[in-house]
Amino acid sequence: MMKNFYPDLYVENISSITASMLSKMGMEAVVLDVDNTLVPHNDPNPTAEVTAFLENMRAGGIKICVVSNNRYERVKPFCDAIGVEYFVHDALKPRAYGYEKAGEIMGVEREKTAAIGDQIFTDVWGGNRAGCFTIMVKPIDVKSENIFIKFKRLLEKPFIKRLRNGDVK
Ligand SMILES: [Mg+2]
Repeated sequence: MMKNFYPDLYVENISSITASMLSKMGMEAVVLDVDNTLVPHNDPNPTAEVTAFLENMRAGGIKICVVSNNRYERVKPFCDAIGVEYFVHDALKPRAYGYEKAGEIMGVEREKTAAIGDQIFTDVWGGNRAGCFTIMVKPIDVKSENIFIKFKRLLEKPFIKRLRNGDVK
């Protein structure tokens, strides 16, 4: 159970993740969170880092699906802006539903899918439950988050401390 709250990998940001590194680990696809993983919460504008990350994935043959708990109105225009065709909105993370749906859409098994996100009790927990390889990034801008996410950040603290100390797994 507690193991579900730790990612397989903890990195600074998406720029630390490359297609060749994922391929070496046997990954064929990525499931991407949007808010505070790719851009600040509800920010509609993709950055140069996001564009470069996606180009690297595509060039390396890694399939891409966005899985977000945010609404269609947030997710669809953002996916259009970054040229990502596959997405699941209202994904209900940490349920496995969004990851399962992403796997079906992409035709990739979940053990060959890296789930990337910034929240332990949403992205990491959900990705682990679904049987994905989980990668946690640091949130881009916590100031953009609402009170519910701020509360979850407090609960994340002891887990992140253990991750930083490297006493996990
Ligand atoms: Mg997020």
